[in-house]
Amino acid sequence: MARIVQKYGGTSVGDVERIKKVAERIKGTRDEGNEVVVVVSARAGVTNELIARAKAVCPDPSERELDQLLAIGEQETIALVAMALQGIGADAVSYTGAQAGIFTDKVHTKAKIQGINPKPMEKELKAGRIIIVAGFQGADDEGRITTLGRGGSDLTAIALAAALKADKCEIYTDVDGVYTADPRVVKNAKKIPEISYDEMLELASSGSKVMQSRSVEFAAKYDVVFEVRSSFNHNPGTIVKKEVAYMEKVVVRGVAVDKDQAKVIVSNIVDKPGSAAKVFRALADASVLVDMIVQNVGRHGVANLTFTVPQTDTRKAVKALEPVLAAIGGGQVAVHEHIAKLSVVGVGMKTHSGVAATLFQSLAEAGINIELISTSEIKISVVIDLDRVEEAARVAHAAFHLDQV
Ligand code: ASP
Ligand code: MG
Repeated sequence: MARIVQKYGGTSVGDVERIKKVAERIKGTRDEGNEVVVVVSARAGVTNELIARAKAVCPDPSERELDQLLAIGEQETIALVAMALQGIGADAVSYTGAQAGIFTDKVHTKAKIQGINPKPMEKELKAGRIIIVAGFQGADDEGRITTLGRGGSDLTAIALAAALKADKCEIYTDVDGVYTADPRVVKNAKKIPEISYDEMLELASSGSKVMQSRSVEFAAKYDVVFEVRSSFNHNPGTIVKKEVAYMEKVVVRGVAVDKDQAKVIVSNIVDKPGSAAKVFRALADASVLVDMIVQNVGRHGVANLTFTVPQTDTRKAVKALEPVLAAIGGGQVAVHEHIAKLSVVGVGMKTHSGVAATLFQSLAEAGINIELISTSEIKISVVIDLDRVEEAARVAHAAFHLDQV
């Protein structure tokens, strides 16, 4: 007997037929003698619909009310999954995040989990019941409903696996696991059998949409081993765990593409100490997430700063910069949204050289121009023209022989 936490994402519970299929899978796991805790997302599209409705009644809805509203998406699915299980003779009970003892801070729409009280769930498990928990939500110390940020059901699952000391944590989604690249773009992409937390994290934050990055960070911190796999078949997925020595033999583990970035160019700002500090302070105060930053050498007393931000933050960024430029004595802001970020990731980069050269060479041979470059210990990212990024992903994938892993 093992204790298993399973998480089913929005497409896996997308309609009543899918919910019935998922219920059978859950019952199968229970019938093998395991203790089962299930986390579910809202049905695919529901969270977005709820947000659209909120904006239709108020352009800038309060975050407290948004949480109140968004939490119902997951509450629909927990009840339906529990009913579907009961319908096939399984003993199941649904729990909201608060009922499951998930306590968070008070930061609505991106709350952090502060603790989980496992007692109520332990009691249900002892009684042999399957527990269906609403993902993406919790409650603060005053009982107010909070949500954990988009994609937060992953985090709920990882946190429950840690709190309940589960033997296994399975993240069910609509893909077979983590691939060397998006298989829709790179036809010969391969499923990765095992990947380290760090690689998974870099891939997740570089545009691979398999999992929410905060949940991967949490898993790394509490050493929760988990498997990403498909709810549509029984194929083995990808195991995500602590780095082990053999992983460094592979130089590049995967290629990720992020099309949701924009490039911001701040030109002709006075080239003196404090200019960059003022620019990025203003962006930070406006909660704009800045990624790649490049500053050119100053000429004739002025310099240019270029950086990337999520496209959803561009308007906020421009608004935050206007007063700063006025204050430091000039400069212009331009935004380019027709760009994309391509990243190659692998823990092997720590011990192998020549990765950047191979990547740049492969792009050069394809005639793809690089606009920005940034690197970390295990990642190299470049910004290129949006129209060329899929081709670039294929070229980079081939250059690192990722179809042969
Ligand atoms: N329903 C939430 C969202 O769409 C949480 C999740 O799916 O993980 O972001
Ligand atoms: Mg999701």
